[in-house]
Amino acid sequence: MAVVCDACGRKAVIHVEYSGRHLCDEHFNDFYLKRVKRELRSQRRISNRVAVGVSGGKDSMALLDVLHHLLSPAGIEVIALSIDEGIAGYRDRSLGTVREFAERREIELTVLSFENEFGTTMDSIAEGDHERGACSYCGVFRRSLLNRGAIDLEADVLATGHTVDDMAQTGLMNFLRGDVDRIVRTGPHRWVHEGLVPRILPLRRIPEKENMLYCHINDIPHAHGECPYATDAHRQFHRDIIARAESDTPGTRHAVVNSMDRIVSLFSDGHEPEPLGRCSRCGDATSGDVCMKCRYLDEIRG
Ligand code: SF4
Repeated sequence: MAVVCDACGRKAVIHVEYSGRHLCDEHFNDFYLKRVKRELRSQRRISNRVAVGVSGGKDSMALLDVLHHLLSPAGIEVIALSIDEGIAGYRDRSLGTVREFAERREIELTVLSFENEFGTTMDSIAEGDHERGACSYCGVFRRSLLNRGAIDLEADVLATGHTVDDMAQTGLMNFLRGDVDRIVRTGPHRWVHEGLVPRILPLRRIPEKENMLYCHINDIPHAHGECPYATDAHRQFHRDIIARAESDTPGTRHAVVNSMDRIVSLFSDGHEPEPLGRCSRCGDATSGDVCMKCRYLDEIRG
């Protein structure tokens, strides 16, 4: 017998294990939108413009669609911001998906590339013999470009598609390292630092699987496939632990995010963070003399 929606009795398309509910497509959409709205209300206020970091994968495509759907009617401009790391056969394809969708929805799209900004590509970096793995360089360079793009677009905030899975994995990694400072620095950002566009994470309580379903129900294209340099064994280890814990005890991911929120409020009450300085080489916001992007560029240039 078909499983039915707990709200209306129509055919269910999902069993939300952590809440115990079965939902049809319409009630799943309502459930999804309600949680994104709640996150938007609880994070930084957007007055004019939001830049959305979009890679073309299911999470960022769902984010672009849902923010466009919720914010555009309120007069807030939603702009897509993509980074081309220079990964042939992978990023060029996913950016094709972003371009097609942005055109379909008439969303402005800006693409910044490693090649134009740093004179190199991830393909070249991965070929070289460097101190760190490809993902370390890629993550730092991408974050720097997203921030630079959001500044140039005069966005109030930068939205990224981090899910409850990403948040719980990052939280666990930082707990195990004892890195409370990093937990506090993880978005959504409570403070504004000069030179750093605050991040919002509207999907931070939504599982990846639900972004996939949201894309499917709402006909949102998204790229498949995995980056050829995705070899971050450290993250994979934490991903496996969180997946096993969630399967054993549904709701674990949300519990980790709630714990991180509690730590952030305990740490933040009456506690203003130190202001950031400027990199002596490129002028980006940083806590040291030379920012991490410039140090990593030195490493790959040898
Ligand atoms: Fe960059 Fe690593 Fe992600 Fe590939 S898997 S896009 S190299 S961070």
